[in-house]
Amino acid sequence: GEGVVSTVFSNEEVVLKQSYLEQTPEHCVIYSGISNAYLEGIASEAGRKLVKLFERDDIAIFNSIPTVEGTIMMAIQHTDYTIHGSNVAVLGMGRTGMTIARTFAALGAKVKVGARSSAHLARISEMGLSPFQIEELTDHVNDIDICINTVPSLILNQSVLSRMTPKTLILDLASRPGGTDFKYAEKQGIKALLAPGLPGIVAPKTAGQIIANVLSKLLADLKKEGN
Ligand code: NAP
Repeated sequence: GEGVVSTVFSNEEVVLKQSYLEQTPEHCVIYSGISNAYLEGIASEAGRKLVKLFERDDIAIFNSIPTVEGTIMMAIQHTDYTIHGSNVAVLGMGRTGMTIARTFAALGAKVKVGARSSAHLARISEMGLSPFQIEELTDHVNDIDICINTVPSLILNQSVLSRMTPKTLILDLASRPGGTDFKYAEKQGIKALLAPGLPGIVAPKTAGQIIANVLSKLLADLKKEGN
């Protein structure tokens, strides 16, 4: 619902309201992990600055470390073969995709990476991995053991999935609702798993420290500026 905060550790429903933000002093900055239309709306209506921490490069890059560890865990849990020697496709060469690609390659997987910018395609080659144009995804999916998606839009659609074999495991890391047509994947007999929030699951302490470290630096900078 509108403004309902998901709270695993509380029995009561916690709802964030615009009136709460209005009761803060005017210089109050609101820090959140990710955001949504509701939060953006009440923050802007209340005239408060909203900082989305997970959009920051530093947080996103640090977070990619527990994220890849969680992805490795899932790959091991849901396959009966080693990552070493397997054909892995990584979709997206952003902050998460790069760490995923590098780490799976280091474990001995044969990694190809789909990206759209020429700089990313060049970087993938430089890393000793196989680049491909992500618009040509349909031509690159027939031999994949594990497909790891980091692109937050519907990229594993019906035409792509219909070229995949049921042996492929899809691990979709993109923020909800993910980048996979999960209904169609199921119909095709392809196991596709949406895996949100891996840092908090596999390494809650580290995930908390990542946020705390950056946040305390941001607060110290604010103080230096004299706010
Ligand atoms: P990012 O740095 O922005 O990377 C996203 C990549 O996707 C970029 O390289 C971007 O390409 C590409 N992309 C976006 N839209 C595309 C499209 N329509 N077609 C082709 N490529 C497209 O983001 P990130 O920090 O790596 O995070 C990626 C996703 O993972 C986000 O949804 C994030 O919330 C999620 N995430 C999940 C977990 C988890 O535990 N499951 C952990 C961390 C992050 P360009 O650079 O060319 O724009």
